[in-house]
Amino acid sequence: MSKLIDMHFHLDFYANHRQVYNRINQMEQHTLCVTNQPEIFESCIELYKPTKYVQFGVGFHPQNAGKVSFGKASFLRGLSCTKYVGEVGLDFSKEYLCYKDRQMEIFNYICQVSRDKIMSIHCRMAEGDIYRILKENNNKKVVMHWYSGDEKWMEKFIELGCFFSINSNMIRSNTGKQIINQIPINRIFVESDGPFTKVLGRKYTVGKLSAIYEELACVKKIYEVDVLKRQVTHNYLTLIKEDY
Ligand SMILES: [Zn+2]
Repeated sequence: MSKLIDMHFHLDFYANHRQVYNRINQMEQHTLCVTNQPEIFESCIELYKPTKYVQFGVGFHPQNAGKVSFGKASFLRGLSCTKYVGEVGLDFSKEYLCYKDRQMEIFNYICQVSRDKIMSIHCRMAEGDIYRILKENNNKKVVMHWYSGDEKWMEKFIELGCFFSINSNMIRSNTGKQIINQIPINRIFVESDGPFTKVLGRKYTVGKLSAIYEELACVKKIYEVDVLKRQVTHNYLTLIKEDY
């Protein structure tokens, strides 16, 4: 039977992270723990040994661009010890638009140095620039996280070979559902984005990953959740392959 995969999770945002880390390992749920700053990635891997089930991504959240400086040296050190990059991207919503240039400079640099990495990408009102930067830098192993943008751009991302990770909040919203219906099943992942989402009306905890699979199976009209699990596992194997 295929194991569950969570493609985007923030372990460091849980006060009881030790317990959560142990629980994920016990439950054998493959989990990509993204980080929002490279220095946080470094403390995470110092505290926690990456395991078969818990992996860490080195990241720099675009919403941080105006608040903290981007630690290039720390990011490069991080890159040398993981095959995952995230959370990275661009956020041009009103609050963060004033740091647009800084965000683009950092994201472009990250894409340049992360060509062979699996990337979890935050894209808000920045579809055109994300598309261009990914294409220019030839990043091939890309997962768009919580994509809620324009459908025309979504098609372009599909053409580019991108995958999409879907969470419970998306499944509940009408625009989210519309987007989910357009994504081919061979480009889909499940993510929790815990602790920033709700499942069954309550804040996400790691025991609820299977509930997200069930919700997604329902929206995609896949009547057996095991079929979805197998598909997601297959997608993961495609993503990590060197060339496809
Ligand atoms: Zn996130």
